[in-house]
Order: sequence, then structure tokens, then C-alpha cells
Amino acid sequence: MSSSPADLVRAFHLAMGLDARSTPTAVAPELAAHRGELLAEEAAEVAEVSVEGPLDKLAHELADVVYVAYGTALVHGIDLDAVIAEIHRSNMTKLGPDGRVARRADGKVLKGDHYEAPDVAGVLRRQGWAPEGSGAPVADEVA
Ligand SMILES: [Mg+2]
Repeated sequence: MSSSPADLVRAFHLAMGLDARSTPTAVAPELAAHRGELLAEEAAEVAEVSVEGPLDKLAHELADVVYVAYGTALVHGIDLDAVIAEIHRSNMTKLGPDGRVARRADGKVLKGDHYEAPDVAGVLRRQGWAPEGSGAPVADEVA
């Protein structure tokens, strides 16, 4: 069995009768808010153990964040693996052609002259997303 987060979380949602969509979709505000709260809870739990640990608790809470994030993506019909690939593509453009990395004093990698922002909307459109007001045809309108 695949151990990718997307596959594992999909199996969980199907087993538990939770929402799972395959096309990027705006969901009911109550459901969207619920998913946001779940993720905020898990992110807060990461913050609680980030400094003091212990390390197993940090690992647990980090995994919870990823699991819930994948679940939220699934509820909204987003292929999160594809979005992460686009974020990675963009992040790698922070590396200059000379192989140098510009850093802030705290170590954060900065955007250089060759930086390309991620096109997340483009990724979602390729997954079938038709944002409201875009004029893009929805399934019912396609002849
Ligand atoms: Mg947790």
C-alpha cells in the first residue's frame, strides 16, 4: 500500500465517511471553517512542543498538521501533491544562477532576482478549478 500522505488521508476520509472531492471546489462555509479550526489546533500543538519537545511529541504534532492539511485539501478537492510540487519549483528559483543563496540575518532564504512566484491558481485550473467570476465554463455549461 502506498504510504503517501494523500493516499493515507484519502483512505481515512473514506473509512470515516468524511468529505472527499476530486475537483477543486468551494465548500460550505461551515465545513471550510471547521477544517480551518482543525488545522489551527494542530498548528498550535506544534508551537507548544517546538522548543521544549520532547522530540516524539514534536514529530507527532508535525504529522498531525500534515495529515489535517492533506485532509483539508481533500475536502476541497485539491491535489495537494501537485501544489507542493509547484511551491517547490518556485522555491528552487531562490537559488541564483551562481549557486548562491541570499539569506536574512535569521537564516531565512530570501527571494533573489531570478525568483519565480508559484502559480497555484494555474495548478488548480489544471485540476479542473473554475473560480467564481472567471467566466470559465463549469461542467454543466460545456456543450
Ligand atoms: Mg495533534
